Amino acid sequence: MYNVDLIHDDAIEVILVNGRGEHMAAFCLTEPASGSDAASIKTTAVRSACGKYFTLNRGKIWISNGGLAEIFAVFAKTPVKDEKTGEMKDKITAFVVERSLGGLTQ
Ligand SMILES: Cc1cc2nc3c(=O)[nH]c(=O)nc-3n(C[C@H](O)[C@H](O)[C@H](O)COP(=O)(O)OP(=O)(O)OC[C@H]3O[C@@H](n4cnc5c(N)ncnc54)[C@H](O)[C@@H]3O)c2cc1C
Repeated sequence: MYNVDLIHDDAIEVILVNGRGEHMAAFCLTEPASGSDAASIKTTAVRSACGKYFTLNRGKIWISNGGLAEIFAVFAKTPVKDEKTGEMKDKITAFVVERSLGGLTQ
């Protein structure tokens, strides 16, 4: 479990820096019970009471560069309101997580 800041413009800057090969990144989608069927992921992102942070729960497997990367694109489900029906549904969002934020275990 780890806390991440809300995605903001700085996150886009991080991705561009990575594009220059200065930082190693990892793509974190696969889970113990979710491979090809990406929609079945169980990782959730829960917003803090102050609204400023998300806590990502559960874990990922088979992550290339997982032990070395400094930046992670982590896929998690968050409740999103369907504009047509008003119903809350779990949708998948990619979170940019930096190892330096702490809380990441392996
Ligand atoms: C070397 C390596 C590196 C990896 N690196 C990463 C990484 O960096 N990040 C990450 O997120 N994941 C990574 N993975 C995980 C990889 O993406 C998953 O293994 C992949 O998504 C398949 O999931 P699975 O192994 O659970 O297989 P399953 O989803 O269980 O599939 C098993 C088999 O069933 C077939 N199958 C599945 N669904 C259907 C269907 N509807 N119809 C017909 N056939 C189907 C598949 O083609 C496959 O042959 C890596 C895997 C390996 C081997």
